[in-house]
Amino acid sequence: MKPNSKFIQRLQRLMIGRYGQNDTLNRVLNGLAIVLLILSFWGKYAGWLFLVATLLIAVSYWRLFSHNIYRQVALNRGFQRFWFILIRPFSRLTYQISQHWHYRFFHCAQCHQRIRVPRHHGHVRVTCPKCGHQFDART
Ligand SMILES: [Zn+2]
Repeated sequence: MKPNSKFIQRLQRLMIGRYGQNDTLNRVLNGLAIVLLILSFWGKYAGWLFLVATLLIAVSYWRLFSHNIYRQVALNRGFQRFWFILIRPFSRLTYQISQHWHYRFFHCAQCHQRIRVPRHHGHVRVTCPKCGHQFDART
């Protein structure tokens, strides 16, 4: 679609003064709805799952088109406060996996600081940036 087409212009005019952010809360709501929709293909609670998924999608669209931007921002902040605590171990793990090919991770024996060292440098002497403790490691 052309960036200045009539449809895009109408959509832009519609979204003036509305929230329109695909924020953390909306992404979680939509992800949960998709999972529930997939689950609703089987089982005896299919109707209920479908209903809940539809409600979740409705809530996320209500938030997208809401005129009360500050309330939606506050809602998202409140949600993020417990959501980030919940996913913290997983986000740490995905970070470590994504870095795995180029770096090795060590923990300082004294202060337990996590230290990232580039791979393929052979035997190196690692200095903890936090407490200055030194140890030998193979990268
Ligand atoms: Zn240390």
